[in-house]
Amino acid sequence: MKKLLSIIILVTILAVGAGAMLLTGQASENNISPEGRSASGGGRPLAGKTIVLDPGHGGRDGGTTGLTHGTNEKELNLKVANNIREELQQRTGANVLLTREDDNSLLGGTDQKAELQARIDFAKSNKADLYISIHHDAFEDRNVEGITTHYAPSKSSSHVTLAKSIQKGIFEQNVDTRDRGVKASDYMVLRESSIPAVLLELGFTSNEKDERRMNSAEFQDKSKKGIVDGILDYFGAK
Ligand SMILES: [Zn+2]
Repeated sequence: MKKLLSIIILVTILAVGAGAMLLTGQASENNISPEGRSASGGGRPLAGKTIVLDPGHGGRDGGTTGLTHGTNEKELNLKVANNIREELQQRTGANVLLTREDDNSLLGGTDQKAELQARIDFAKSNKADLYISIHHDAFEDRNVEGITTHYAPSKSSSHVTLAKSIQKGIFEQNVDTRDRGVKASDYMVLRESSIPAVLLELGFTSNEKDERRMNSAEFQDKSKKGIVDGILDYFGAK
């Protein structure tokens, strides 16, 4: 009887030990694999694609100013573009370029048309696959709120498909504002772009609730995820 008890205890110790080793092994494997993936570049859905993010305005062109919290559009656009770049690099392996990295416009001048053309040319010369311009809206009626994704009218269907995918991705994150949908708009950066291009208006700085939301870490986190989901969806990689 005593011998049997010893055997049971021994077996139990061995089983627990093996279980612990298995758990440790799994844990260390989990720690290694995400890093291994990013280092090797394997299994990265958009490896080889180049995406240009254009933080709207910059330099002397500040864009809109928030009516309640003083949001500076050009600064927020840059912050949001940096967030999206980080998310794209982590999840997709795409090559991501920004038309501006700081508070300087690309040309530094006052000719807005030339500046916008330079941003389109930047995407072209870098052989980009997508062009995504980041903005925040303003309107005289302060009750107007929500998010819109614009695309150029009379372009190929890939432009509207991209716009729809991104708008859908954002609202799948349950963001608390109005879904204004996608809109065909005659913006120069969209009209002159030969590659699929969209312009995002991520809320109204003239609306108190929208302005508070667009500055929150929670929304910035949700929107960057939604935008990247939309991009992956567009490429059929979601
Ligand atoms: Zn703007």
